[in-house]
Amino acid sequence: GTSVYGDYIKSVIRTVRDWPNPGVNFRDITPLLQNSAAFRKLIDSFVHRYQELNIDAIAAIDARGFIIGAPLAYEMGCSFVPVRKKGKLPFKTISETYKLEYGEATVELNSDAFKKGDRIVVVDDLIATGGTMLAAAKLIERTGGEVVETAAIIDLPELGGSRHIREAGHNVFAVCS
Ligand code: AMP
Repeated sequence: GTSVYGDYIKSVIRTVRDWPNPGVNFRDITPLLQNSAAFRKLIDSFVHRYQELNIDAIAAIDARGFIIGAPLAYEMGCSFVPVRKKGKLPFKTISETYKLEYGEATVELNSDAFKKGDRIVVVDDLIATGGTMLAAAKLIERTGGEVVETAAIIDLPELGGSRHIREAGHNVFAVCS
């Protein structure tokens, strides 16, 4: 689903054409972060969606997922768990590798991050092909955690990512698309 604040949040996100490569329309959230009212509205819309769902942890994806995941976990009074790019977590990790348009990427999670049955919301700034979010969800399920929902500020539905994530059996929420 899409949030009631979707149009407002979308209006404070900037599209940068052909960055970092020709043909990519990069959705730049820095104007949203500079706008304190918009940033508060964004975090509040996630808080309202998840605060009554007995969530144990917010799992946030490196790096822009951290920006929304940390205030969300703080406000909800639950754990914050980073899902990081390969080689960044110092303790024992599990990892998932997934395909990119060119090459592949790996994300990692501390193997002690969750207990069996923990209820987790995964957050990132944007869903494109869905590969990153799906890899994070797999990591969480390998630890015995339950992925209650995967959430992003922006979904790019024409890239099919949110459909793939739903086909894998997960709920998907985006504030705007
Ligand atoms: P994907 O795994 O293809 O769904 O890509 C999602 C990840 O890549 C997220 O962590 C985003 O931050 C980043 N990303 C992919 N495409 C874009 C884009 N057009 N604008 C901003 N970030 C993007």
